Amino acid sequence: MKILVVEDEVKTGDYLRQGLAEAGFVVDLARDGRDGLHAALTADYELTILDVMLPGIDGWSVLRGIRAAGKEMPVLFLTARDQVDDRVRGLELGADDYLIKPFAFAELLARVRTLLRRGGKSREAELLRAADLELDPLRRRVTRSGKRIDLTAKEFALLELLLRRQGEVLPRSLIASQVWDMNFDSDTNVIEVAVRRLRAKIDDDFEPRLIRTVRGMGYVIEDPECD
Ligand code: CA
Repeated sequence: MKILVVEDEVKTGDYLRQGLAEAGFVVDLARDGRDGLHAALTADYELTILDVMLPGIDGWSVLRGIRAAGKEMPVLFLTARDQVDDRVRGLELGADDYLIKPFAFAELLARVRTLLRRGGKSREAELLRAADLELDPLRRRVTRSGKRIDLTAKEFALLELLLRRQGEVLPRSLIASQVWDMNFDSDTNVIEVAVRRLRAKIDDDFEPRLIRTVRGMGYVIEDPECD
């Protein structure tokens, strides 16, 4: 399977090329938007990984060019953490999924495989729900009973994780590894504090309560109506 990587950062580009090659893909690497678009239009790729910030013509123009030419291969774009508008824009322009830089290679590989398997839209962008709680991963929005709830980045990540694995009791160690970084000291009560704050925002003023503590095990989100 042939993949096109369009990435101007030398280190990231080489890292992607090497990692994907080791995973068994044939990789072409374009170092700017013009070369990337040219490659995308002249060769056949199963998938394109597209950086947004590129010299010459940016990732959006490359994406537009690809779709304007009627090419329907999946496009996964790479964006910065704080660029929320980018994610909306990218998907509106016809990208299939996105990944926030910096990312773990394993995550990228999982997304690539999913896109290749499905040949299209990722579920990553779909709304997550439990009872009347709704989380929009793309627009970073949470509502309960239609009421907008403001969460910190960590609270949001924690809630997203619990919702994606709804019904599953998540141990603190797993939450630490998914929501905090590697240097996280799991002896602290940071997770308990974060869960308490999250509850205060999404559960205290509402019924039913969704976040449950399973003593000695961890936390789970359950919609009691669904039992
Ligand atoms: Ca770049």
